[in-house]
Amino acid sequence: MTKQYNIAVFDGDGIGPEIMAPTLVVIDAVLEKIGAIKFKYEHLPAGALHYTKTGEDLPDSSVEAARAADAILLSAMGLPHVRKPDGTELTPQIAIRIKLGLYAGVRPVKIVPKQPTPLKDPRLETVDFVLIRESTEGLFAHMNEGKVVNNEYAIETMRITRKTSEKLFDFAFRLAEQRTKKLGRKGKVTCVDKANVFASFAWFRSIFEERAKAYPDIDHDAAYVDAFAMWMVQRPWDFDVVVTENMFGDILSDLGAGIIGSLGLAPSADIGDENALFQPCHGTAPDIVGKGLANPIAMFLSSAMMLDWMAIDKNDPLLAKGSEILEAAVNKVITTRIGLTKDLGGDCGTEGCTSAVLANIAQQ
Ligand code: ATP
Repeated sequence: MTKQYNIAVFDGDGIGPEIMAPTLVVIDAVLEKIGAIKFKYEHLPAGALHYTKTGEDLPDSSVEAARAADAILLSAMGLPHVRKPDGTELTPQIAIRIKLGLYAGVRPVKIVPKQPTPLKDPRLETVDFVLIRESTEGLFAHMNEGKVVNNEYAIETMRITRKTSEKLFDFAFRLAEQRTKKLGRKGKVTCVDKANVFASFAWFRSIFEERAKAYPDIDHDAAYVDAFAMWMVQRPWDFDVVVTENMFGDILSDLGAGIIGSLGLAPSADIGDENALFQPCHGTAPDIVGKGLANPIAMFLSSAMMLDWMAIDKNDPLLAKGSEILEAAVNKVITTRIGLTKDLGGDCGTEGCTSAVLANIAQQ
């Protein structure tokens, strides 16, 4: 009997729809390969283009439909020329995390053999860590309430709560436990903060230390964000699970994308207690829209993360098999360079990369 799951799809702006369309084709090819599972996609309106037509960037009806779905796929959103009256960009992709309580932003930093990377060191081929960015509070908690006062000074507020921090750290330690089983080595969680300067971060770190006691089999340590940024470049192979505040995570995840070679390769998941959303780390890349150059791999790998998450959430191991097939098909593009896009030094566009991934799926 074929099982069906409902997937909410936000096509996004800019290159968003250009990478979402092939992603759904690739997912369907994987499902056909594993058999017995089908996805029903519901395309939901949201984004900067939708705002120009309706005055709304994230309709409540879309949020509610996404909440009811089995999982959510979201492509890049926002356009630099579409601004709110205060001059800031629209960020429905951030607002939805807060509305659905998706507190754990999971950003894998993984390098496969022969991957073209800007850093040169043989140990880079062993880089495999996961950055967890708290995604609902920190410096983004009051992101629409910042004030410029009398043109003299500006204020933004950072909020860290015990409840979310505890859930975040538990998530990080549980992920380290899963990785211990999968990778066969002792797991470690590193808390990244600025506990030497800010009371909020000293408290954040103390909650981390409290939660660590519940996971005696997992090592833990902590680092200041400035030093950690340097270590990410000097010895990225040393980390396992790294957990941090929203703003620091925003910055460090782009640094992670830089280490692996391109934003076009960096997937992410935003996970809460009830829902999970999967999206590429990159933005809408306005400079390459409509040229057929967008690298779809970050969106493909985000979908592989979705299949992995659903495998556990739905207790359906076939989906984990699907995730493995998809990840292997993408890795083959990177190692063989057949289907590699221009941002990685290859000569393909979105279509060529997609065809190569489909061929690799068919061969498995
Ligand atoms: P945001 O702030 O919305 O995350 P950003 O300012 O980080 O966006 P991006 O839209 O991610 O900017 O683009 C940064 C650079 O990376 C651009 O030159 C863009 O063309 C390139 N880029 C981003 N995503 C891709 C992709 N999927 N394929 C190829 N190039 C990409």
